[in-house]
Amino acid sequence: MSLLDRRQWYDLARDTNWTPVFVTEDELFPPEMSDGFGLPMKEWESYDEPYKVSYREYVGIQREKDSGAYSVKAALQRSKYYETADPAYLSLLKMHYGMMAVNEYQTAFAMARLARFGKAPGMRNMATFGVLDECRHGQIQLNFPHQLIGLDRQFDWTHRAHQTDNWSIVAANHAGEDVMLTRDAVTTSIMLNFAFETGLTNVQMIGLAADAANMGDYTFANLITSIQSDESRHAQIATPLIETLVRNGKKRDVQQIVDVAFWRIWRTFVLLTGVPMDYWFPLEKRDQSFKEYMHEFVNVQFTEQLQDAGLDRPWYWDHFVKEIDTASHSAQMVFWSWRNTIFWNPTGGLGRKERAWLEEKYPGWNDTYGRYWDLVIDNVNSGREDLTSAVGMPALCSMCQIAIAGPDARVRQLEHQGRRYNFCSPVCEWIFELEPDRYAGFDTVVDRLYNGTVAPQDLLAYMGIGVVSHGGRDAHDLAWAKEYAGAEGAGTDE
Ligand code: FE
Ligand code: FE
Repeated sequence: MSLLDRRQWYDLARDTNWTPVFVTEDELFPPEMSDGFGLPMKEWESYDEPYKVSYREYVGIQREKDSGAYSVKAALQRSKYYETADPAYLSLLKMHYGMMAVNEYQTAFAMARLARFGKAPGMRNMATFGVLDECRHGQIQLNFPHQLIGLDRQFDWTHRAHQTDNWSIVAANHAGEDVMLTRDAVTTSIMLNFAFETGLTNVQMIGLAADAANMGDYTFANLITSIQSDESRHAQIATPLIETLVRNGKKRDVQQIVDVAFWRIWRTFVLLTGVPMDYWFPLEKRDQSFKEYMHEFVNVQFTEQLQDAGLDRPWYWDHFVKEIDTASHSAQMVFWSWRNTIFWNPTGGLGRKERAWLEEKYPGWNDTYGRYWDLVIDNVNSGREDLTSAVGMPALCSMCQIAIAGPDARVRQLEHQGRRYNFCSPVCEWIFELEPDRYAGFDTVVDRLYNGTVAPQDLLAYMGIGVVSHGGRDAHDLAWAKEYAGAEGAGTDE
């Protein structure tokens, strides 16, 4: 018997909906897990997935991808690339793996919710492959850095970061769990597949892969590209969902879901992608600035994707575009000044050439952020390195969990049921006010100091520092700052 062509059987085979008789539809698909909008089943049955694949095809393709990525790794292991790599670049890898590897595994749970509770048969089918995708992303990103633990203990955070209360992981998880793990299947898909994967991962994946290839790290560049090929497939899960909801008069709800999730992921994204692109890659290896990537992939491309889906830009778009100019610089100051609290070694990375590049890419940089670094440089060169680390903890945003710092930073305070909350921006505050019950019970790491959850002298250990590995220091031992020794007025002149 010859095999049927996929087109001849696919639509029939994947239409696995039936009318339940032993339980009610709501018992089979509880609204809080499934569809919070209450659309009739026949609406979901019209879902037509843009990407169709059979299991046999899927595993064949995935096997090729995996063997490609793993053989590049095996072949290059002998080249001792990592043994001699720029320590600032290695730090980027430590941060990436620590924040992403287990997070990818969490994403498998989000996909599993779609696969079980999605009412659209085609969506369940695609999400089943999405579960397998995300398991692969978790496994491969745990496997690759494992060889590096012997080189540097900080790579152990790949596996252990998510078992600590390090503030950077708390920030990533607060956003990740909000967007991926705690909402019904329809909302999860719009947040994860559309706002996150369609909206922002291109910058992460394409930009980071380009920069890694420039660095000669073909192992990591291949890994990222391999992952991205899955993301671009399963990111399409949300498109027919959004079409269905908009057709049923739910545009306002969908828009709000997108607005919330896009912002939540954007704030994490600044840490994960913005800072490395603008500060940690050696200047001659930088492909584009974070700002240029954001404008190309998000301000232009995502705007078109929003329009195609029948949606608008989030209401805060002007504020967001302004943050593209500032967010990576504020986050770099936070990482570097509180470097003893993180699990990688960020470089200040601000020699004269780097400053000229920043001034060119972000006009006005010297007069704003540069002034902070002038002070750092003066302190380094007058033997007061001790003054370059921040003392105490900053105010953390009660939504994004990131320090509210930088020349433009202003804490926005809100009283809610006798408790004060701090926010970095009108958008983080808006998200809180939409669903205060969802967020009000959470304590930032700084709240935990004040309420006695952790004693100040135990804080570093609480965040895993000195437990999993030592904390961060300047990746280049401040060599970039010593470039200015003896010069007047640090780096602004040249
Ligand atoms: Fe993934
Ligand atoms: Fe915030």
